[in-house]
Amino acid sequence: ESDNVMLVGKGAVRFAKECGMKTCSQDELIVEREIQRWREWQAMSTGQEREAFRKRKIPNDTVGAVALDRNGAIAAGSSTGGTPNKSPGRVGDSPIIGAGIYADNAIGGATTTGWGEAMMKVVMAKSVIDIMERNGNDASRATFDGLKLLERKAQGYGGIVALNMDGDVGIAYNTPRMARGYMTSDLRDPWVAV
Ligand code: ASP
Repeated sequence: ESDNVMLVGKGAVRFAKECGMKTCSQDELIVEREIQRWREWQAMSTGQEREAFRKRKIPNDTVGAVALDRNGAIAAGSSTGGTPNKSPGRVGDSPIIGAGIYADNAIGGATTTGWGEAMMKVVMAKSVIDIMERNGNDASRATFDGLKLLERKAQGYGGIVALNMDGDVGIAYNTPRMARGYMTSDLRDPWVAV
């Protein structure tokens, strides 16, 4: 309902307040588990140790969703704490339209999680939608082919959830696990797996 596509920082907070959204202090967003992880990281002295820790592929905290409404409108969203031990100022894929999220009412929508730098390099969410447009709107195949692209071009890892305009779901990931689920108007209970 505004002319903007993306707002950040103080302007975004002001806009959220104007829209009546409740805000909280940054301290409320810090969880003990992440403080522990950060201390572990800080205690490591060598580059080798840090590299091994980074490669442990510990589960992260991104939550993404794609939804199709009864009028055929598709929306994709994502919420994340980013990645552990990130550099100050680092922006990941999650808020970037095309990388972490994408929705096109004529084709489908996608959301991603995983190593954001690789996701951004291949513009993952938009690439999945492009693949879907070319493959006859097969959401499932598009997520698998998207992952192959991510591996081939950026040696990346992560997961993708996509929906086509008929409401078919595609889910693929190359991490040890990914919590995932979907709900349709035909299902009594949501389908979920971890
Ligand atoms: N993709 C997120 C990022 O790189 C992290 C995640 O999915 O957990 O910021």
